Amino acid sequence: MSQFWSQRVQELDPYVPGEQPKNQQFIKLNTNENPYPASPKALEAMQQAVSGSLRLYPDPNADQLKQSIADFYDIDKACVFVGNGSDEVLAHAFVALLKQDKPLLYPDISYSFYPVYCKLFGIDSIQVPLNDSFEIDPRGYQQDNGAIIFPNPNAPTGMVLPLDAVEQILQSNPTSVVLVDEAYVDFGGDTAVSLIDRYPNLLVVQTLSKSRSLAGIRVGFAIGNAELIEGLERVKNSFNSYPLGRVEQLGASYAMQDREYFESCCNQIIATRESSTKALEALGFDVLPSKANFIFAKPPQGQSAEAIYLALREKGILVRYFKVARISDYLRISIGTNEEMQQLIDSLKTI
Ligand code: PMP
Repeated sequence: MSQFWSQRVQELDPYVPGEQPKNQQFIKLNTNENPYPASPKALEAMQQAVSGSLRLYPDPNADQLKQSIADFYDIDKACVFVGNGSDEVLAHAFVALLKQDKPLLYPDISYSFYPVYCKLFGIDSIQVPLNDSFEIDPRGYQQDNGAIIFPNPNAPTGMVLPLDAVEQILQSNPTSVVLVDEAYVDFGGDTAVSLIDRYPNLLVVQTLSKSRSLAGIRVGFAIGNAELIEGLERVKNSFNSYPLGRVEQLGASYAMQDREYFESCCNQIIATRESSTKALEALGFDVLPSKANFIFAKPPQGQSAEAIYLALREKGILVRYFKVARISDYLRISIGTNEEMQQLIDSLKTI
């Protein structure tokens, strides 16, 4: 700790990202990346952008990318905001849309960046418990609040909240913004984008890091009523008016346009998730019903998640476990290729 740090920095509790080993030998099933490359059309567009005019600033409004996102969802471009990964989009939303004097509500088992932002932006929070089946219970979101956020599907459980329950939360909170973090929605969940016309308090946040295999270029977006989006633009332009470079804007735009490649990739991951779930269950794991590109699994009686994590690591396979009370005996396993998942299963048999 430095004497030059402000009091605010001294009190921060920064997010610790999952391990990104330099060693390429690992089978990496720990940070929910996509095992397949991005759309060939997106890769080619990025190569062209690199050999193009990088000496010029990018489009500060990212119009082409916003249009590609709007076309994908058949909505107006004015309803789209883009940023440097959905983490940054969420940060702007915390500044632009949360009431400072009331607590933010989010599930007690959820994405661990939310408490980090609460601390950074000085926002109080209340963590609403999941029910005994690890589901989000809309009734917990009827208390006084300054905004609500939850991932759908939730992380790290992978469990989905049906759209009628999302609507219940929106209806019981007409004066609060409800942020639905849909980082994993493309693997079998239902997006709430179709609800933005009816609910001016809804902001849907998505990313190209997972279903579009572009974690490396950091692109995320938000969709909501044009007034909410304008609030986000005001914050963005007070922070960094060029959040996305030329390469990122072009690559992301082509990735959004290549619907066929996107769908085939997602379908493959869903199929692998289902076969991996069966294989883990056959080994005695208790697997929560996932609609994400990862599964959350409790090892058979008598085996510890931490011990399995360490043993797999020794064998060159990285997964994730959490040191949080209620889920400390669970492993989170990202869905890799069929071959990678087979190696995981084979290794588990020897532990
Ligand atoms: N939301 C959730 C629930 C996540 O798990 C992640 C990925 N760790 C993100 C948002 C952020 O994704 P990115 O910044 O790569 O878009």
